[in-house]
Amino acid sequence: MLGRKQLLIGGEWRDASDGRVMPVVNPATEEIIAEVAAATPADVDAAVAAARKAFTGPWSQLSARERGRLVWNLGEKLRENIDEISRLETLHNGKPITESRHIEIPAAADCLQYFAGWADKIHGDTLPVKGQALVYTLREPIGVVAAIVPWNFPLLLAVWKVAPALAMGNTVILKPASQTPLTALALGQLAIDAGFPPGVLNIITGSGGTVGQAIVEHPGIDKIAFTGDTSTGKGIMRTAAETLKHVTLELGGKSPNIVFPDADLDAAVRGATIGIFYGKGEVCAAGSRLLVDKSIKDEFLSKLADRTKKMVAGDPLNPKTRLGAVSSKAQLERVLSYVATARKEGASLLAGGDRTDIGTGKGYFMQPTVFADVTPAMTIAREEIFGPVLAAIDFADVDEAIARANDSIYGLAAGIWTRDVKKAHYVASKLQAGTVWVNTYNLYDTAAPFGGYKQSGFGREMSRYALDYYTQVKTVWVDLSN
Ligand code: NAD
Repeated sequence: MLGRKQLLIGGEWRDASDGRVMPVVNPATEEIIAEVAAATPADVDAAVAAARKAFTGPWSQLSARERGRLVWNLGEKLRENIDEISRLETLHNGKPITESRHIEIPAAADCLQYFAGWADKIHGDTLPVKGQALVYTLREPIGVVAAIVPWNFPLLLAVWKVAPALAMGNTVILKPASQTPLTALALGQLAIDAGFPPGVLNIITGSGGTVGQAIVEHPGIDKIAFTGDTSTGKGIMRTAAETLKHVTLELGGKSPNIVFPDADLDAAVRGATIGIFYGKGEVCAAGSRLLVDKSIKDEFLSKLADRTKKMVAGDPLNPKTRLGAVSSKAQLERVLSYVATARKEGASLLAGGDRTDIGTGKGYFMQPTVFADVTPAMTIAREEIFGPVLAAIDFADVDEAIARANDSIYGLAAGIWTRDVKKAHYVASKLQAGTVWVNTYNLYDTAAPFGGYKQSGFGREMSRYALDYYTQVKTVWVDLSN
């Protein structure tokens, strides 16, 4: 048991105002591993007051370079504690330790240090206006930013918001998902250790319905940066309209991974499995729709089924494990219900299809699952499952591949597998998606923007594009006429 964790408000750790707590469960063992404070709307009020005080007080008095240095220090603290934080990420989420330790927590540290570098490189312009006037712009922070994040990449998705927000001079209230609050709380302690003034980064744990809702309604918050379900995002946008907050949304996906007959098929098989089984398929950009040319379908799917059957779930803390535990019981049940629907609607099961056990009799483990003969109208071709379930759909030619790929309310990402350079660029230009990978899948870098088209949301995270969503522009006119 990791003990009882408190809220971080104004630089101090404290219980929820009514003393209530909620459990954190390890999905690989079903054990309660910690208790965290279940914050109340009164705690949200206190966090907003602390964030506002810091925004107008000590935080605004630091130079951009000093601010950048603190954000850099936070990245360093994360690196110094990388083993412990990676372990926490795996414990509350069920993801393989190799993903936490070697990919996601290092990426979070990179993200902090990338945005630290931008702190003193964002500035306004002088503008050549008519008449005799000096006109210049200032790039100013927006104010108090609330970051609301889901459970699939608990720390990384938080840092994608916290890093640019802090580097640009905002203060932050971070609300992690109820299931996975531990690494956000750890980040709060690292911020204290790194030397941030009190109230610059506040961490509030609690349910979306209570704490999330109170944050979105709060008139003292200037911006909501949200990652999560598309329907939650729509509700947030409606509620935030009342106080006209800035909003950026990173939402769901049903991303196509398209295999043309001229592809390196072995590489494409590897790419298809990484595309859907990394992170147990709990990845917003997962390549969950595999579009395969009819002429190679049988050969390709047979190789894919063989590779999938070799993937077995294991103890997430074992460095050799490549498929961990589904994040919660509710999520496992949701994934299994989609499998049942796929069977009822006539899809052919090629691999997996059931929950599994790693020999302990405990844990929410799922077999990696592949369905063939999926038609574009079937439920598993249209809805986001957010689990290790792949839907294979065929196509006859390039035009049909593009049409099928774009036949979705979502537009987060897409993959293209071909050796034909012209075809790769042509198809990339036609896909309605915020990210397109060619002959690879699931690559990310803090220098490259990420975000959605269509109902996958708007705004961009990472890269210099993200800076626009954490600053506002002030225009100053100075009359020089006499
Ligand atoms: P969710 O929308 O239920 O929860 C996300 C966060 O919002 C949590 O912190 C939750 O407590 C909070 N929340 C819930 N209701 C709220 C409300 N009414 N007001 C304010 N906050 C509220 O999503 P989830 O189940 O945690 O995550 C899975 C979803 O997130 C999937 O649909 C997935 O595609 C999406 N996702 C998208 C991206 C992306 O970058 N586009 C990344 C990861 C996950």
